[in-house]
Amino acid sequence: MWAAAFLASSAHGAASYHFAAVWDGAKVWKDACIIVEGERITAVGQCSGPSTDLTRYTAIPGMVDVHTHMTYVLANRVSRAGRTSAVPYLAQGNARKTLETGVTTVRDLGAAGYADIAMRDLINLGQMAGPRMFVSGYGLSQRRDRPAGPNLAHGPEEVAKIVREQVAAGADVIKMYGSTGSGKDVTGNETFTFEEMKAAVDAAHAAGKRIAIHSYGPAGARDAVRAGTDSLEHATDMDDETVAELARKKIFYVPTIDHNRYYADNAVLLRYTADDVKGLNDYIARNLETAKKAVKAGVKFAMGSDAVYTMFGENTRELEWFVKAGMSPEEALRAATANGAELLARKDIGAIRAGVFADIAAVEGDPLADIQAATRRVRWVMKGGAVVVEAK
Ligand SMILES: [Zn+2]
Repeated sequence: MWAAAFLASSAHGAASYHFAAVWDGAKVWKDACIIVEGERITAVGQCSGPSTDLTRYTAIPGMVDVHTHMTYVLANRVSRAGRTSAVPYLAQGNARKTLETGVTTVRDLGAAGYADIAMRDLINLGQMAGPRMFVSGYGLSQRRDRPAGPNLAHGPEEVAKIVREQVAAGADVIKMYGSTGSGKDVTGNETFTFEEMKAAVDAAHAAGKRIAIHSYGPAGARDAVRAGTDSLEHATDMDDETVAELARKKIFYVPTIDHNRYYADNAVLLRYTADDVKGLNDYIARNLETAKKAVKAGVKFAMGSDAVYTMFGENTRELEWFVKAGMSPEEALRAATANGAELLARKDIGAIRAGVFADIAAVEGDPLADIQAATRRVRWVMKGGAVVVEAK
């Protein structure tokens, strides 16, 4: 019996990892060990027995970025390969850089050619290194995608049909572009009507899926919230009633403040003009003001980078804006862990506790005192029990 039990435990590969501290998503364990068996955590607490020494670091749960565009590669601006079935191959670096930021799960909100579904499945099959992906296929829009795909919807019936098509293709979540605004374009004119948004929400929920509605401006945000979206992306200048309704309905706000910082910082690469940069900076200021209002009103936040092109590797900078908007570092970290998991309806990620996936980031410094420990000093990452970023 003893021998059998011993063999069983070594077959599972139980391993212990020793940290200076563990922030488990709710509280701090000083000088603690995390026990991992296979893909999962089995225990957190006092160390006993041999452990991997990571005592230079604090452990936090692997983070969740709820707004990426993993398949957006710069090659699509310079070569046809970026618009073909080569996209998952070209986007491998985006997935790897995301892991290096301590992000072990993403919600990917809009891709052409179902390249997101291919990436998700390649990662799950162990054929590509990357975070767990929850993907949306085509985002519903009132403008035809290029290359053309099944994304265009006019009227509630067509909207519901396109939602069902994404689900049938393998989407985990639905994305709808409820206003203009993208890249250097910071206009936020509502595109879909309230009735169309409601049809999308209802069709997504009928299929057992959640929906994210994009709105740069306040009108689309108001209708998305009234229609009962599960998360609201971007939105500036929201009126008090909409902010209050976000809080009341417990809808997640994903302000994606940092992606416009990325665009402004990379204006030369992206061929944006000085005027474009002025517009981006003006939008950032309004986005931050709106986030401050939402923090005060008790709205739930989740961390979304809206990363595209070369922004991967900076996925978590958004948390620095959350702190500027009035959150404590711990509240910001919760937005990137427990809240992300809740928005994805996953109870098996976003925390360090027995039973969940062993998704862990080791950071240098105290992330509860200085958010930059988590956003700039990730030194080791584990995903599903496998070390994906070695300690440096
Ligand atoms: Zn986006």
